[in-house]
Amino acid sequence: MTLHIQTPLYESRPMSASAGCQVWLKLDALQPCGSFKLRGVGHACEVHHGRGARHFVSSSGGNAGLAVAYAGRRLGVAVTVVVPETTTARAKELLTLEGAKVIVHGASWQEANELAQSLVGPGDAFIHPFDDPLLWAGHASLIDEVAQAGEKPDAVVLSVGGGGLLCGVIEGLRRNGWHDVPVIAVETHGAASFHAAVQAGQGVAIDRIDSIATSLGAKRVCEQAVKELAAHPIHSVLVSDQQALQACERFLDDHRVLVEPACGAALALASEPAALAGYGKVLMVVCGGATATLAQIRQWSAAVGA
Ligand SMILES: *Cc1c(COP(=O)(O)O)cnc(C)c1O
Repeated sequence: MTLHIQTPLYESRPMSASAGCQVWLKLDALQPCGSFKLRGVGHACEVHHGRGARHFVSSSGGNAGLAVAYAGRRLGVAVTVVVPETTTARAKELLTLEGAKVIVHGASWQEANELAQSLVGPGDAFIHPFDDPLLWAGHASLIDEVAQAGEKPDAVVLSVGGGGLLCGVIEGLRRNGWHDVPVIAVETHGAASFHAAVQAGQGVAIDRIDSIATSLGAKRVCEQAVKELAAHPIHSVLVSDQQALQACERFLDDHRVLVEPACGAALALASEPAALAGYGKVLMVVCGGATATLAQIRQWSAAVGA
């Protein structure tokens, strides 16, 4: 049994037309809890459940927390999610709807995370949002599905927050013998922690996050993502919040699916033919995200003049 579902894979005609190459979509926005996170989180939760865990703890008010809540409900394991005061009403509502116990604590994620850590008792499992080999192994299933369909791309485009998706996709490429397929790692300017590591040639923390793509808001990427720079071809690309928002609106018009700006950042490359020049066929990971509403996206768009 797996908790995630196999998602659609098809070519986007409108995006191919604007990109000037074939753009294939892997639609993980259609996972039951709205993002690819369920692949890795679901896998980690199943492993911990198999080892007898009776309680899952998360400190993510975003899609990782939602995936833990979903996995816990499906597995019959109690879930506690500690979120900071800045968490939106929408996110808390989605967590509660999945049956998780939500504790609001602290002004920032650091404080919420400290309390969450203190709640992890013996036999409980803390589920990290991006830095855990169990997560990467689960995320890799996304590439397994593309390989099973026989659709080898010339490049994979994805967004980077803490780097869990990046590590998982590279693990998937590797285990399917696709070592030669480069990854185009997209962030917004205000959440460019992977880009900072690329420039420094080592893991570094950025001072602050200043982007509406909140799901990309890790100040430092996991060490494995930095290690992959030496092991796999990766190109780091930055887009503006405005480009990410425009891509969300376009994707809703073209494909009738609403995604977060965190996902829009990757999708924005379809409107930047220069970024995809030289590739015949590109796979876009439509990572999704459940925490943005259409009203919120319109409000942000108005604020940044998109
Ligand atoms: C978590 C998340 C990301 C970033 O994934 P990382 O594994 O943290 O790099 C991107 N988009 C969405 C919608 C997410 O939920």
